[in-house]
Formats: sequence, C-alpha cells, structure tokens
Amino acid sequence: MDTSTVLTCERCRRPGVNGTLYQMQLDGVDLLCCIRCIFKNRAVIFRSVKIALVVGTILFAFNQGDIVLRGEFPSALIWKIPLTYITPFLVSIWGALSSAKR
Ligand SMILES: [Zn+2]
Repeated sequence: MDTSTVLTCERCRRPGVNGTLYQMQLDGVDLLCCIRCIFKNRAVIFRSVKIALVVGTILFAFNQGDIVLRGEFPSALIWKIPLTYITPFLVSIWGALSSAKR
C-alpha cells in the first residue's frame, strides 16, 4: 500500500510544478502554494517591480549615468537599460522563491 501523499497548493488545489510548493503570504494569508499562484499574485510581482525600479535606477546611474549626462545615447543602451531593470526583478523573484521553497 502506497502511503505517500501528494501535497497540493492550498489555493488552487493542484500539485506543485515538479512537486515543489512554496510557503508564502498571499492576500494576507500564509499558504503553501504553487509557483503558478505566486506569479498570479499581484503583491509578489508588485514588490519585485518596486525593487527593480529602485535597484535598477541606482545601477543605471552608476553604470550609464555619466554617458547620459554627457547627452549621449549610444545604441548599446537600448539593451542595457532593460537588462539593468530586469536583473534585479529576477533576483528579487528568485530570492523570494528560494527562501519560501518547501
Ligand atoms: Zn496554486
């Protein structure tokens, strides 16, 4: 007799992707939830966007601020600016997920 139990998301009742669930506070309630529910939660995404805006702006000022202040806008900035903001966003999401993984 198989006594193993499959843990399911307390929000959507589906099993976690690759069996992984995360202990997260969603909508003010501490839940064991799947990654799909985390990415659907506006609070988690909004927090990471705020971190990305603050950290990305600081990184942009350090790395490309002098160039922009000289009035230049080299074409490389077209891909550097989005990367400067996407990187802290992904790090923030990854940090939240890795600390909440169960
Ligand atoms: Zn779920």
